[in-house]
Amino acid sequence: MNRGPSSVIDLSALERNLAVVRKIVNKKTVIAIVKADAYGHGSVEISRRLVSLGVDRLAVAFTGEAKLLREAGIRAGIIVLFDRASIEDYFTYSLIPVIQDRESALAFSREASRRGTKVRVHVKVDTGMGRVGFAPETAVDEIAGIAGMEGIELEGLMSHFSEADLGDRSFAVSQLDVFSVIRDAVSARIGRRPLCHIANSAAVLSFPDAVLDAARPGLLLYGCSPFNEDYGLTPLMNVRTNLLAVRRLRTGTPVSYGRTFVTRRESEIAVVPAGYADGYNRLFSNNAEMLVRGRRAPVVGRVCMDLTMLDVTGIGGVREGDEVVLLGRQGDETITAAELAGRINTIPYEIVTSLGSRARREYVN
Ligand SMILES: *Cc1c(COP(=O)(O)O)cnc(C)c1O
Repeated sequence: MNRGPSSVIDLSALERNLAVVRKIVNKKTVIAIVKADAYGHGSVEISRRLVSLGVDRLAVAFTGEAKLLREAGIRAGIIVLFDRASIEDYFTYSLIPVIQDRESALAFSREASRRGTKVRVHVKVDTGMGRVGFAPETAVDEIAGIAGMEGIELEGLMSHFSEADLGDRSFAVSQLDVFSVIRDAVSARIGRRPLCHIANSAAVLSFPDAVLDAARPGLLLYGCSPFNEDYGLTPLMNVRTNLLAVRRLRTGTPVSYGRTFVTRRESEIAVVPAGYADGYNRLFSNNAEMLVRGRRAPVVGRVCMDLTMLDVTGIGGVREGDEVVLLGRQGDETITAAELAGRINTIPYEIVTSLGSRARREYVN
């Protein structure tokens, strides 16, 4: 969309973050998660760079996202995590479905037979997420059945942690135990071991034993950690714009809708041409900072649809047109997605997807 702030994406940071992942998972497969437009970073550019760095497996949520990557000429294996609506697309674009129930397995088998071909699939087991996948009680029979269906090539077996990011790892350990039992039983039944994967970013960083045959990192590739520690990751996304105006306001002047902020001294107030329509959450009203001239300036008053005001009193020399950073680094200061998430009781995922999907993107190497 041609409006508001720009998001400068540092692709060299992607390379460094991938190196962090590879150091942990060693030679095992990395399935890079590029769903939601690569968490707001642009799935085509991110995928291209990942593929050039040797990543040969990508995963998206829906077939539409995979189609976009194929149309951009990306030839890596693409796993589609959730969508099963458009079966033809899986064949047209050579995509790898995640099978979550018997009916869709049968549908894929029929379509593959009709076309005289085979489709590689991964099958999902629900070990505690309560969302999609086969229940552990029936999983082994179901999966062995699917592996035997005409036209189906069972390539992978997967599950998903519901709380690998908590301090208490006991539930994740029990999920891994359940998954391992199913993996062994399925392998015995079909006479070989499928590619097994359950580890998301949090597990890669804090529970490396869970990286079985492959890891499925998303967030950490983009340089955000799900924990307080940064693990040497470098954020890719820098969201910036230029000040629209800087005004001097007298003591007692209300700022923005609802007069939730009133100047308590003669103040310099800067107007930022970005607001909640640009993914800058309205809950940042009187509750966040941006960077101007390498210094932190508090957001004052309510965030508007297109504008946000900052108190820049005392920073000195702030002028209309100066760069203002909503997320990322300026000088020695950094505003991380984790910081913004903490202020409004959400997670860094939501910060990067909301800010990143609306801003104009530029890529730097
Ligand atoms: C989004 C997603 C991931 C990646 O999670 P991160 O926490 O970003 O690493 C992995 N697996 C599945 C099934 C997902 O939906």
